[in-house]
Amino acid sequence: MSIFYPAMLRERIQYVTPDDLRSLGVEGILLDVDNTLTKFHSQELSDEVANWLKMMQDEGFKMTVVSNGFAKRVLPFTDKIGLDAVSLSCKPSPIGFWRGAKRLGLPRKKCVAIGDQIFTDVLGSKLAGVKMLLLMPIELEYNRPTILFRRRFEKGIVRRFREKHPERL
Ligand SMILES: [Mg+2]
Repeated sequence: MSIFYPAMLRERIQYVTPDDLRSLGVEGILLDVDNTLTKFHSQELSDEVANWLKMMQDEGFKMTVVSNGFAKRVLPFTDKIGLDAVSLSCKPSPIGFWRGAKRLGLPRKKCVAIGDQIFTDVLGSKLAGVKMLLLMPIELEYNRPTILFRRRFEKGIVRRFREKHPERL
């Protein structure tokens, strides 16, 4: 099942520290948007997330966004946070992560994907050869039955991951 397991798990992005990322040996971050940086389909930027982005930039990490969302959903948000974006990335296809790493000018193994979904973010990052840090979703997608359906399987995988890898929590 290790193809579904991240290198590290945190509840929220603001709990990810520069030392966490340095322990993974990465210099670049490939960020998901929905339920990672903000709620599903929201344009709202919280102070916690804004401060985290600034802190990581100050610590020297390079960042870009890799999202499965349409450009019209993703770009207004990434304009707000001042980052480039690969939209419609078709995760778990690895292509979006490869484009993101190239844009940062870093080898894939020096990049970490941060996202909230196992069957897109974790699987895609494994296929792409980038590291993976999984977050818990900010809120469940009650109006998206397909995502909600997958969440049930994710719950079981995360439970087993927590039991098996307490050192990655
Ligand atoms: Mg997401």
